[in-house]
Amino acid sequence: MSSLQIKDRLKNIRDKVEQGGRLNLDDGIFLYDPQVSLHAIGELANWKREQISGNVGYYNINTHLNPTNVCVYRCRFCAFRSDLRDPKGYVMSDEQIIARGQEAYDNGCTEMHIVGGLHHKLGYDWYRGILEKLHAAFPQIHLKGWTAVEIEWFEFLTKKSVKDVLSDLREAGLGSMPGGGAEIFHPEVRDQICEHKANATKWIEIHQAAHEIGLKTNCTMLYGHVEQAYHRIDHLLRLRELQDKTGGFQTFIPLAFHPENTKLSHLKKPSALMDLRTVAVSRLMLDNVPHIKAYWIMLGIGTAQAALAYGADDIDGTVRHELIYHDAGATTPEILSVDQIRQLIIEAGREPVERDTVYRRVHRDPDQYTTWSVGEDVLVNV
Ligand code: SF4
Repeated sequence: MSSLQIKDRLKNIRDKVEQGGRLNLDDGIFLYDPQVSLHAIGELANWKREQISGNVGYYNINTHLNPTNVCVYRCRFCAFRSDLRDPKGYVMSDEQIIARGQEAYDNGCTEMHIVGGLHHKLGYDWYRGILEKLHAAFPQIHLKGWTAVEIEWFEFLTKKSVKDVLSDLREAGLGSMPGGGAEIFHPEVRDQICEHKANATKWIEIHQAAHEIGLKTNCTMLYGHVEQAYHRIDHLLRLRELQDKTGGFQTFIPLAFHPENTKLSHLKKPSALMDLRTVAVSRLMLDNVPHIKAYWIMLGIGTAQAALAYGADDIDGTVRHELIYHDAGATTPEILSVDQIRQLIIEAGREPVERDTVYRRVHRDPDQYTTWSVGEDVLVNV
């Protein structure tokens, strides 16, 4: 494509976005062409992001809980999982799980993000019990737990319908669902990296069921491994289609692949330029998803800060006990203080706003840090 053709095509896309039109598959693939100026795409995505969220940069105070790393599956990109008899394998005791809840409470966390492996021998009641015990002891902490992959596993274990499983988990204390397990939907890629676990149709069916019973969820895409631009855009369009139906996704999180200690360790991790392009393209394609998160643990702090000017409006949380990406070689710190995360957002030229899991503004009592209240739903214009 000549530079004039690229300029014309980009202008056409800009006009579409500014007039509230929708980008299609070809537009998205074009935006991934390295000849197309990253800065031009970023500027347009930033415009869109400011239309939706103004100048705000969201963060939360959160912790992770991975109750077991033992998993029946062997996804090729996963450095976290362990075999049943591998010395690396662990299963947390009830006491350890409650201690984590206490630590989260003492540090003012509003959210626990709970995901893990599909253990060969543990039953559904063990997974359900984690929510039940934590919710009973710390009802003020939002439990965002179990990806669609785990929900499919629970469906298999219980022989109940997806909706019945989700309703039962909500009764036990589930507040919302994370967006993991989506990876890349297209079978040309999925069959190479995680052929056994929930496929695209199942992942979407589970999130649709969650939305239909009133549970909010997030959505993700793992990029930078064996997929091509076509697969990424196909993935985003499938998410956009479900969001048109249900409106239940809160935030999209593009997840940069980390190859270390995985079966794909011969691959390079994506560059910062690819990270920023993916954030920007996601903001432009997913015109109906309110938030785009630049997950600092995966992107690195500098890229996550830059992403706040390339379409992202959220940088994730202070985070404690992140294992999944640190096992895969992430060199980011394992925790940021509230002052640090606010300062990162300020340095990026944004106004830091603490949110809870469902994007309500959090108000803290400065003298009693573990006490907070939430305001109205944060207004976004999508
Ligand atoms: S990504 Fe999840 S499902 Fe796949 S092997 Fe790792 S822990 Fe298991």
